[in-house]
Amino acid sequence: MRDFYEILGVSKNASSEEIKKAYRKLALKYHPDRNQGDKDAEEKFKEINVAYETLSDDTKRARYDRYGEAGLNGGSGAGGFGFEGFSNFSDIFSDIFGGFGDSDDEEIDEDLFITLELGFKEAIFGCKKKVNYSYKANCIKCDGTGSASKTTTTCSRCNGKGKIAIRKGFFQMVSTCDVCGGKGKVVKDKCSSCQGSGKENKKEELEVTIPEGVDNGVTLKCSNKGNEINSNERSDLYIKLRVTRDDRFVRKGDDIYIDVPILFTQAALGSTIIVPTIRGEASIQIPFGLSDKQLVKISGEGVKNHHTRRTGDQFVQLSIMYPKHINAEQKELLEKLNESFGIKNDAKEQQHGIFDTIKSWFK
Ligand SMILES: [Zn+2]
Ligand SMILES: [Zn+2]
Repeated sequence: MRDFYEILGVSKNASSEEIKKAYRKLALKYHPDRNQGDKDAEEKFKEINVAYETLSDDTKRARYDRYGEAGLNGGSGAGGFGFEGFSNFSDIFSDIFGGFGDSDDEEIDEDLFITLELGFKEAIFGCKKKVNYSYKANCIKCDGTGSASKTTTTCSRCNGKGKIAIRKGFFQMVSTCDVCGGKGKVVKDKCSSCQGSGKENKKEELEVTIPEGVDNGVTLKCSNKGNEINSNERSDLYIKLRVTRDDRFVRKGDDIYIDVPILFTQAALGSTIIVPTIRGEASIQIPFGLSDKQLVKISGEGVKNHHTRRTGDQFVQLSIMYPKHINAEQKELLEKLNESFGIKNDAKEQQHGIFDTIKSWFK
C-alpha cells in the first residue's frame, strides 16, 4: 500500500501550502523534460501527481485519511485515477505556476542537475570523486539584470509571470513565455559581458563522497552547490549517478552474477573450483549431476545495500564447455569411459539402435 504523504515527503498533518510546495519541488525534479528516457523518473512523476491530486483536494484528502486509497475509487464524487486524473493534470500545473514570480518559486527552479559516471566497483564499494561542473552565477558587470544600465521592464506578453497558457483542444498547456524566456522581465540595452542573459558560467570543483552500494540512477544532493540565486545564496546541486558495466560481473540490485566456463569433465566429476568475486575470489563445489547454466549461490558475496545495509549474494552460472579438439590419448580415454557406461563407440552398430526406435514413434 503506497502512502501519499510519504510519496510527497510531508507529514500527515501538513498544511495545503506545504503539500503544494513539496509537490512543486518533486514535479520539477522528476518532470519528463528533465529526465528524458528515464522510466523510473516517469513512474515517480506519475506517482507524485496521483498523490498530489488527492492531497490537494480537501474532500479527497479526508476520504483518503479515513479509508486509504481504496476509499477514493467509486463512491460519490470521488472519481478514479484513470483518464480523469490526467485531464486535471494541466490544471494542476497552471495552478502551480499561477503564483510564479515570488522568490520561493524561482529558488526551486534554479536547482542544478548533473550526471556523474562511476566505475562498477566504485559504486559497489563507495569512493571519493572529484566533480568538475559549471553553474550559473549572476553576471558581475550588470548585477544579474542583463542590462548595461541595470534597468529592466516587465514583460508585456506574460505580465511578468514568465509563463503563458496555451489552449490545445481540451487541454490547457502552460509553457515558458517566448518573449522573455521565462524571466518575466525584458531588457532594452543588453549587457555586453553576458549578452543580456544576466548570467555567467562559473566552474567549480567538488570532492564528493560516494556511499557504498549506490546504483545506476541514484541521485545525490549537495546543498548550496547549485546555481547562484543571489550574492550569498545558492540552490542545490543534484548529482545523478551513471554506473559503467563490468566485463565479467553483472549487477542486479544487490546481487552479482557471473558466468564461469567449466570443462564437461569437471562438471561430471563435481570438482572444486576458484571463481572471482567482487572482493577477490571464492571456492565453490560444483554440484554432482550439474546441468548446463546452473546457478551456484555464494551467500553474502553481493553488494551491501546503501539503505538497508544488508548484503546481497553472488550467483555463479556454470557453463559446461566441450573442447574443440582432443588428442589421440584423450579420445582413447573418452571411448573407454563411454564403454564403461555401456554405450557402443562404433556408429554402425548404433544405426538401428534405440534412437531410431524412439524417433519412429513420432513419425
Ligand atoms: Zn514574458
Ligand atoms: Zn551582464
